[in-house]
Amino acid sequence: MKKEFCEFCMKDTNCKYNERIKEEIINNDKIKYLEKYYVCSECNNEIYGDLLDDNILASNNELRKIHNLITIQEIEEIIEKYHIGKKPLSLVLGLGEVNIIRYLNGANPTKEISDLLKNINNNPFLFELYLDANRDKISAIAYKKSLGKTKQLELTNNHSKLYNVCLYIIHKLAEIDHLSVQKILFFANGFSKVFLGNNLFKDCPEAWIHGPVYREIYDSLSYYKNNKIDYNELSFDRKFNLSNEEINYLDVVIESFGSYSGSILREMTHMTSPWINARLGLETNEVSSRIIDLDEMNEYFKNIYTEYNMHELNDILKYSDKLFKKARKAKFENNK
Ligand SMILES: [Zn+2]
Repeated sequence: MKKEFCEFCMKDTNCKYNERIKEEIINNDKIKYLEKYYVCSECNNEIYGDLLDDNILASNNELRKIHNLITIQEIEEIIEKYHIGKKPLSLVLGLGEVNIIRYLNGANPTKEISDLLKNINNNPFLFELYLDANRDKISAIAYKKSLGKTKQLELTNNHSKLYNVCLYIIHKLAEIDHLSVQKILFFANGFSKVFLGNNLFKDCPEAWIHGPVYREIYDSLSYYKNNKIDYNELSFDRKFNLSNEEINYLDVVIESFGSYSGSILREMTHMTSPWINARLGLETNEVSSRIIDLDEMNEYFKNIYTEYNMHELNDILKYSDKLFKKARKAKFENNK
């Protein structure tokens, strides 16, 4: 027995709680759910009182299942995943400010909005498009916070070889800035043809002012600016999909180049002919997106292999050491 307001007696009365299977047709959908209700002990009429919300939730839930709409848990996942508040998420998706809150409270989105939410849940690149398009509608702090998390997700959702190698480098060095990652990628792919028989990946870098740059990686990592990228912060369980031979090779490349600062590594790549040749005719500070040809890179590193009389992986250290000394000297002369 519970005290409830009986709309027939027009006063609080003692009511008895009941449940039954309810069948209902809503917009041509036939649904079945457990309906809760009270029976007034004085007039014997059925009343819903505070159970109305539960019944709406239960019937919405059935409709949700029939139409395969996004679940409340999945919407909560989006909020958590992209570090975004309920209201900012609504605004970024071009919805009314309180829509997401309504869905979280049990209201059903339309099929169209549900599909959008599902796509966004699976695709950080798509979410970023919405985030950028509507960044004026949310605070700068909310935008930045969410963008950072989205970039991390993009990084971890990309399973190309280039990204696997890139993340392996970040993983090995624990903390590294994105300028250094770019240069180590260049040397790693450069020597791979002679030491592994094949290039690690087919992507070509561009000959930027500050050395060779893989644009896709730049787009993913530039968010970090000059800050160190903390692999643990990316907090994901990644399988790099690299063979033992590739891992052994990469470990030596990382050992050979990983202890230099980003600015020294930049100088070191400035000593290599693939970068120099790609920038022929350009001013030192002229922006360029010219491609550094992979064949030319392979040719250069093949010649280095011969010139340094290389036999084993550890011979890469001879080259990096010499290159470092040249780069240090050049840097010193430039600063005079
Ligand atoms: Zn009554």
